[in-house]
Amino acid sequence: MARKKAAASADRTAARKAEVRKTAAKNPAPKRRPLKTAGSKKKTAPAKRASLGGKTAGRARVAKSSRVSKAELDARKAVIATALKMSSSGLSPGRSGNVSVRWGKGMLITPSGMAYDDIKPTDIVFVDGDGSFSARAKKPSSEWRFHLSAYEARSDKGAIVHTHSLHAVVLACAHKPIPAFHYMVALAGGDHIPLIPYAPFGTQELADYVAEGIGEIDACLMANHGQIALGNTLAQALELASEVEILAEQYMKVLSLGLPRLLRRRQMQDVLERIKGYGQHAQETKKT
Ligand SMILES: [Zn+2]
Repeated sequence: MARKKAAASADRTAARKAEVRKTAAKNPAPKRRPLKTAGSKKKTAPAKRASLGGKTAGRARVAKSSRVSKAELDARKAVIATALKMSSSGLSPGRSGNVSVRWGKGMLITPSGMAYDDIKPTDIVFVDGDGSFSARAKKPSSEWRFHLSAYEARSDKGAIVHTHSLHAVVLACAHKPIPAFHYMVALAGGDHIPLIPYAPFGTQELADYVAEGIGEIDACLMANHGQIALGNTLAQALELASEVEILAEQYMKVLSLGLPRLLRRRQMQDVLERIKGYGQHAQETKKT
């Protein structure tokens, strides 16, 4: 019985991988493999991440204590501040979108269905690494499974922003990933921003697609849904989500003029190398 289950699970995983490949094959640009970057080595092996968020996922447990440390309170406030910025910048229409930060073996995530203006630090939900959360807490965002699977897949990242931003959604609904039409695409860590296949919101199937999609890239479009962006910090994740939205809008406008001339793999590799040395810190380092 157990073997049958394992075999069925392996079949499903193989089918999903085939679906990912099929989606990629339909779109010429992302046929290229993501370029290797420094961060790509840190990803967790697929076999390990497949175990997370599975059997015990979603189980509500009784919290041992409702008291939180100053550090946790600050982290909860930072999640709220990021969600408010995401909302006020127009990246998340209505109550769509959600924000989380890695915390201990799990994460702190925005609650389900609450207006961002109304969220208090106590409303932010801690979801443990096995997918359990306190029965006394608010319900976590319905998308908590793919946040958790993303943290498992990318142990080098500490924060996630997921939005239904307008232009990212339009491309995602047209099943068009963002190719190397502009060098800024490299901000997501590769030579394109991929599109993961559709699966219903809140499902483990979608969580598996997300883990696969962001294996080596910090952002991806989600078919018929939206986008997800990862960062070392909440500020970085939000900034990347904003960049993805801008790139999506620019790409749509370029498409209205015809097919863009894409940058070559070698050119994008050069940009990725330059990005590593970009910023105030890198420049200061070079001066000394
Ligand atoms: Zn969503």
